[in-house]
Amino acid sequence: MFDAILVEKSGDTGAVSARLVQLNDSDLIANTEGDVTVAVAASTVNYKDGLAITGKSPVVRRYPMVPGIDFAGTVLESANPSWKPGDQVILNGWGVGEGHWGGYAAKARIKGEWLVPLPAAFTPAQAMAIGTAGYTAMLCVLALEAHGVTPDKGEVLVTGAAGGVGSVAVALLAKLGYAVIASTGRLAETDYLRQLGAATVIDRAELAAPGRPLAKERWAGAVDTVGSHTLANVCAGTRYRGAVAACGLAQGMDFPSTVAPFILRGVTLCGIDSVMAPLELRLAAWQRLARDLDPAKLAAMTRHIGLAEVIGAAHDIVDGKVRGRLVVDVGG
Ligand code: NDP
Repeated sequence: MFDAILVEKSGDTGAVSARLVQLNDSDLIANTEGDVTVAVAASTVNYKDGLAITGKSPVVRRYPMVPGIDFAGTVLESANPSWKPGDQVILNGWGVGEGHWGGYAAKARIKGEWLVPLPAAFTPAQAMAIGTAGYTAMLCVLALEAHGVTPDKGEVLVTGAAGGVGSVAVALLAKLGYAVIASTGRLAETDYLRQLGAATVIDRAELAAPGRPLAKERWAGAVDTVGSHTLANVCAGTRYRGAVAACGLAQGMDFPSTVAPFILRGVTLCGIDSVMAPLELRLAAWQRLARDLDPAKLAAMTRHIGLAEVIGAAHDIVDGKVRGRLVVDVGG
């Protein structure tokens, strides 16, 4: 038997509920398709995990579901030629924790093609301190670089800066030499954001309300985790030929913008998806995280919790109350 979080949906009311349960290998085999079984060492709480557990958005496509969109651990059994018992691996996305049982269990059974090797630079717990949030932050940085946003071009903005994606993005961009403007609704976290490397901290209220199609040119690039009016204002304030990496929807899924930043200032809006990203991009992102993320800053943004605390943390993250990253210590 092993511990797991299980999310169920009531057939009568449609209400979603989550609880800590004991599962066994037969449950895993009956409810999963896969050719690799992993002993999960650590998982994490991402915003999407919060949505899955609270039922706030319909991210879970099949019930009962073991949520947890990412994990790191050690291969126990493999029928996949790429992996053998003892290999240390990371999983991010691919619909795991949404349509396929995920990381909030001591064992996971998944497709070997979804895994990437754990970089030598990281322990499983460090890899999950980064987690899908941090790997997505790196995808955003790679997109800005690919669009020519280099540190000499000017400041870069990170929205939702005190959250998971935002905290890693601030630390990465600062280490790479960018002057980072961190936008947050939690000005009490100003010292925290400065420790991560932010040069300037602004109140997210400056960006949250409907704005003009074009604003004063302020940042050469941006990582936006927030969407909605914030993303529209971020684009409106982006400098000529700058780029914005859009990865999140913490304010909303809408995008009430005009084409003005794109056709008058040549701004590029880069869509960032971590879930189905191709293997080569994942490998490149994890390599760059090993090179460019300061371990001390990663430790400073991370808190560890146990499986039993995941349900409370899920409510906290959808309420915007989690600072930085939460690692879930699942197994040994
Ligand atoms: P977090 O909850 O850790 O961070 C989100 C942050 O957004 C909060 O900490 C808060 O930052 C800010 N925020 C929350 N509510 C609002 C609001 N109403 N208006 C403006 N800002 C708000 O989540 P994650 O970092 O895990 O994820 C961030 C976003 O990125 C989510 O929308 C998530 O779904 C998305 N995401 C997308 C991925 C992809 O593949 N595209 C992968 C991973 C995440 P502060 O307090 O500093 O203002």
